This record gives sequence, C-alpha cells and structure tokens, in this order.
Amino acid sequence: MKKLDLRSDTVTRPTQKMLAAMSTAEVGDDVYSEDATTNRLEEKGAEILGKEAALFCSSGTQSNLAALLTHCGRGDEYIVGQQAHTYKYEGGGAAVFGSIQPQPLDLQKDGTFDLNMVEQHIKADDFHFARSRLLCLENTHGGLALPQKYLRDCHTCARKNNLRLHLDGARLFNAARKWNVPPRTIADFFDSVSICLSKGLGAPIGSLLCGDSDFIAEARRWRKVLGGGMRQTGYIAAAGLYALENNITRLSEDQHNAEALARRLAQIDEIDVRYDDNQTNMIFLSIPEAKLAALHVFLRQHGIIMAQGTKVRLVTHLEINKQDVDTIAQTFQTFFSRQH
Ligand SMILES: *Cc1c(COP(=O)(O)O)cnc(C)c1O
Repeated sequence: MKKLDLRSDTVTRPTQKMLAAMSTAEVGDDVYSEDATTNRLEEKGAEILGKEAALFCSSGTQSNLAALLTHCGRGDEYIVGQQAHTYKYEGGGAAVFGSIQPQPLDLQKDGTFDLNMVEQHIKADDFHFARSRLLCLENTHGGLALPQKYLRDCHTCARKNNLRLHLDGARLFNAARKWNVPPRTIADFFDSVSICLSKGLGAPIGSLLCGDSDFIAEARRWRKVLGGGMRQTGYIAAAGLYALENNITRLSEDQHNAEALARRLAQIDEIDVRYDDNQTNMIFLSIPEAKLAALHVFLRQHGIIMAQGTKVRLVTHLEINKQDVDTIAQTFQTFFSRQH
C-alpha cells in the first residue's frame, strides 16, 4: 500500500533521478567557495529570482536568521506577522542570537498586513524606542499566494518609511505558479528573499538566501557564525539544482490536486473545508472533534497520514498524484458514510 503523507510538502524523498544527480555531483570545500555544484546552485537561484547573489543554507530557519542578522543590528526591530514563521516558529532566533526585537502584528485572514497598522507601529527616531529597520513578509502564508498588488503596496510602504524588506519565500514558487508569473516578479519587491528547496521542490535539504552581492557577502559571514559553513555541500546542492531545473513548473499539479481534493471533501456534510481562491497546495479542514480520533485511525489503516489537531491541514506535493487524490477522497467518504 502506498503511503500518502499529507502532513507537509517537506516529507518528499529524492527520486532516482535526483539521487543520480547527487551521487555524481562535482564537489569541493564550500567554505573555500570551491564546491562547483554549490556555486552553480547559488548562481542558478540568484538568476531565477533576479538577484545578484545567493547563499546555500542548511534550512529555511538558518536562511531567515542569516537575513535578519544581516539586515538588523542589536537594538533594531523587524516588523513581522504574529503568525509568521520568522516570528512564531523559529525559536525566537533573531532575539536569541541577534538582540533584534520583533514587532509582531496580527495578520488579516488573507495573510496580509493592514499597512496602516504597520505604519502606526514604525517607531520614531527616539532613544526610547528600538529602531524599526525591516519589514518581513511570508509568501505563501498558510498556502495563500499574496496578491502582487499587495506586495507592491508593501514595497511602497517600506521605501517611504526607510525600512528594508525581507521575504520568507519558503514556498515562493508555489505563489509564482499560482499567479502564473516568473518567480522574479515576486522577488523584485524585496531586498532579500529566502526560498526552501526542501518543500514542494522536493530536495531533501536546503534553502537559498538571495539578495545583492554585498548583502550576501555579509550573510555568508553570519552563516559561518551560525555553524552553517559546510564542506562538500555539492552532494546536497545537486539535489537543489535538480529541483530548480525540474520541479518548479510541476507545482501547478500540486495546486490542481489540492483544489480537486478540496472540492471532493466539501461534498461531505460533516467536514468544513477551507480552500480560498488564492490558495495553493494546502487545504484546511474542520472536523467534528468526536470523530477525529477514529478518522485518524481509519485513514492510517489506508496508508493516509494527516497532522493532528482539530483544524487539520492537508498538503499536496510531489508524492501525491491525481489517482491518490481519488483514493484519499474516497477513503474520507467511506469513513463518513458509515456510523462511527
Ligand atoms: C518551512 C518553513 C520555513 C523554515 O524552513 P526549515 O527548513 O523548516 O527551517 C520558513 N518559513 C516558512 C513559511 C516555512 O514554511
């Protein structure tokens, strides 16, 4: 029985072709910038995102943290969504390692900031206050592709108020596929962008931080401080390179599969499905609590794994195809058509 793991798009494993690319990679010591494959990955990533340079990082958390440490100094502040990864899910790294104060603000239901609220929280130049330095966005957020017009508005707001702009673009390519735009039309609005190779793109490990050359040179220094200076990284960079060359356009399939699954699950009375117009590869379900435990067991018996919790998130990815969507929908339907 095929395992259908819907917890996240991080669960994908390298395909045979990706493994082949990894095992034949040309490598060297990347701390000396002598790893040819890593250099190629960084060049390719920078090119796709329309930036001067890129830096291969071990994870999205490391990439975001290197960016924050590069943009902000001790006593500086970054404005960030209350529900954003760089505030809520990265262990408070900016405060822990950088003495950088977060200014978290509630995001609206569609994943956007109220920019009036952002402006109200930008602090005046006064020694009572931390120095507002950076605005930090996340795209996609909760699977939602942020509108391009909104990104433009954020850019205008940041420039007007002398803030730098960072994008946690762990799933930037999902957003680009959603709007059918080249990835750089998203990245263009930002001074720095972090992308994950290990999510929908299907690489086992790795992220890229992209920006202008001076910024990346400084971030390279911080990556070393964070313990992220690695040696023959070409073996894993090869997977990332393979992913950038082969797995970007296919993200549309994940989106179509998510949409199809959402439509099928919405036919079940007891499930409340949330799949918005600008949603990409994530579906959110509300399921009656009394049935949840039994549902988990039933799904597991059929090889289907979903995250715990009453608000369930299902994520489509490289290892979930159209036929799997059918299997998943049918299994849900079978469960809810019985008396439990
Ligand atoms: C996964 C993720 C990250 C961090 O990536 P890791 O590689 O897990 O550290 C950052 N931001 C968002 C939005 C993510 O989904």
